[in-house]
Amino acid sequence: MTILRVALDGPLDGLFDYLPPEPLPALELKPGLRLLVPFGRGRRLGILVGLTAESDQPPERLRRVEQVLDGHPLLAPRDLDFLHWASAYYQHPLGEVIFSALPARLRAPEALLEMDMPGVRLSAAGRALAPEDLSRAPRQRELLELLRAAPEGLALHQLRERLGESGAALRGLRAKALIEDCRLASGEHLAPVAPAAEGPALNPEQATAVAAVLESRASFRAFLLDGVTGSGKTEVYIRLIAEMLAAGRQTLLLVPEIGLTPQLRERLRARLPAVQVVLHSALNASERERGWQRAASGEAGVVLGTRSAVFTPLPHLGLILVDEEHDASLKQQEGFRYSARDLAVRRAQLAGCPVLLGSATPALETLHNARLGRYAWLCLPQRAGGASAPSIRLLDIRAQPLRAGLSPVLREAMHEQLAAGNQVLLFLNRRGYAPLFTCHACGWVGSCPHCDRRLTLHLGERRLWCHHCGWSARLPERCPGCGSEELRMIGRGTERLEDELGALFPDVAVARIDRDSTRRKGELARLLDGVRRGETGILLGTQMLAKGHDFPGVTLVGVLDLDQMLYASDFRAPERAAQLMVQVAGRAGRAERPGRVVLQTRHPEHPLLQSLLAHGYSGFAEAALAEREAAGLPPFSYLALARAEAPEAETAMAFLRAAREQAEALGEPRLAVFGPVPAPLERRAGRHRAQLLLQCADRLLMQRLLARWRAALARLKGGKGLRWSLDVDPQDML
Ligand code: ADP
Ligand code: ZN
Ligand code: ZN
Repeated sequence: MTILRVALDGPLDGLFDYLPPEPLPALELKPGLRLLVPFGRGRRLGILVGLTAESDQPPERLRRVEQVLDGHPLLAPRDLDFLHWASAYYQHPLGEVIFSALPARLRAPEALLEMDMPGVRLSAAGRALAPEDLSRAPRQRELLELLRAAPEGLALHQLRERLGESGAALRGLRAKALIEDCRLASGEHLAPVAPAAEGPALNPEQATAVAAVLESRASFRAFLLDGVTGSGKTEVYIRLIAEMLAAGRQTLLLVPEIGLTPQLRERLRARLPAVQVVLHSALNASERERGWQRAASGEAGVVLGTRSAVFTPLPHLGLILVDEEHDASLKQQEGFRYSARDLAVRRAQLAGCPVLLGSATPALETLHNARLGRYAWLCLPQRAGGASAPSIRLLDIRAQPLRAGLSPVLREAMHEQLAAGNQVLLFLNRRGYAPLFTCHACGWVGSCPHCDRRLTLHLGERRLWCHHCGWSARLPERCPGCGSEELRMIGRGTERLEDELGALFPDVAVARIDRDSTRRKGELARLLDGVRRGETGILLGTQMLAKGHDFPGVTLVGVLDLDQMLYASDFRAPERAAQLMVQVAGRAGRAERPGRVVLQTRHPEHPLLQSLLAHGYSGFAEAALAEREAAGLPPFSYLALARAEAPEAETAMAFLRAAREQAEALGEPRLAVFGPVPAPLERRAGRHRAQLLLQCADRLLMQRLLARWRAALARLKGGKGLRWSLDVDPQDML
């Protein structure tokens, strides 16, 4: 008897056994096929992960698979092995792990998309016709004009997107034989073009890095590419990818943010003769699925994607690159919580190929691995092409007369640079207009009714927003507490700074870059374009500015509000602050125009600032690692965080107290348990939150203990409305 072992989509632990469907499908039943199965009184989607001859279930209780959804397995055995490992390591149900690795459409019982799509193009008669001849049928004319601009044709869904429903106009044109039907390859991928640009000759450090990785191309090895901003890391990636393509191998290139993909993608496209696909969450479902298919079929030579792309099946995988490997966005913070960087290393190990982690500010974990020799450490200490590193200066702003948060020295320096035709970048890591909205008469403060947090004023929208749960309200005209009209906004976010700069520098064009100003599609590209063309004088924004983009025309960087980052409670806060500072600083200046960085602070004596200034990021990292070691914190130990939340605080705490007992019952003296305590953000979206921290110096032991512990937690009875989750290697203690 053949029994199918199935992982079901959803938060269900374990695998489920089913009998083959009847009649048997023509194709062979292999792991990686999606199945529709009866479950309870309903049905569920599952994926076949194995075949076996016997089941723990009595045969009469086994039910039959209803339907096999795919004509061939969507995942190969090596993909399933990897997902299995991820599920075990992150203590997350296998079915949910597998389905979160598939394109979203395939989480429903849908067939794979066809790779080509129905479309229309102009017929010879249509091409010969002048649009004016259709002036009596404006819809048809509009359509005709669109098609003239696209000689190879347009997909029907693209037409719908541009024109709305246009069935009647299409029928009209068809009847006059002005258009004809065609099939179009989906247009989202980048077809190979002959690469236009030759790269620069590599400098000796780059050449050494490329050679080192190529030398171990046939086996697993992890590399850290530790190179200052602008040192030519991307150039190293491109050379390596080119070598992989020449050998018929695929490369997976992971980046933390969608915002980074357009630039990189243009650069890859100009240089590499390969089908490239881009995978990130801003694509629509079918774009994403088609890209995924191109990767899985082996057609795509390069897959560029954000964190979830780490799961993309790649039959000819030869190399994994992780750019900006220190970036917290590589960690998925909800649901299936995983680190795409750590999984990339594991995946390379399973695939027997090299993995290269690149950063100007490597994570302390990664530096630790490099110092221990687990990762080969490749350094690019200088900016490529002869540019010099920016000089950094601390500016004590205590007792200084600030305007718009800018000290006289910084304002003066700005005027100077702007007058010389250079650009200035201001970094303020807080969006919105003002972080505090309060009543001058009674002291009322706008705070979120569902969280323990202040509301941020967004003046343009005339709304108060909670940045933690997304709740918002119209800006009140009068104080909700006492009815007074004397409402004040206190503090400064990027929106306010933009306003104020308009007054301080009336003749200078200002571009603001943050999540709010770039929400509309294409807006970020438009703003960056203005900067690149030199139309923008002052560029201001949040940490979005610290990521990946280069601003060669910027000669002065002002960091306005550093102090709040220095004094955050999370043990990783200093590391994040240092990375952010160095990254922002690195955006500025190029060969002919070196950059200068001014850090405004009220704590110039802070040891972090001092070590950063005196010895750069590596000096800081050295000091920070010593502190972590003394405190027994990662990377010198491993952490797991159990979070619980419920409408009543006591429900969450009671669950975690029971969880603590279970952890103690494991009887392992090397496991330390802290808590439970209320979470730093105690109330979020109307729910009370608490957490319990586990710490262990031995990773494998931690893994074994976590597996047993999680099984015990699953058996615990939670109170009313309780939700809990486990975060292995948590990045964020909120
Ligand atoms: P990173 O990724 O480390 O920030 P890039 O690869 O983007 O650095 O390189 C920064 C700039 O220097 C780019 O304009 C790139 O074209 C140029 N560059 C890179 N390598 C070299 C080289 N060997 N010689 C000259 N210019 C180079
Ligand atoms: Zn009031
Ligand atoms: Zn809230």
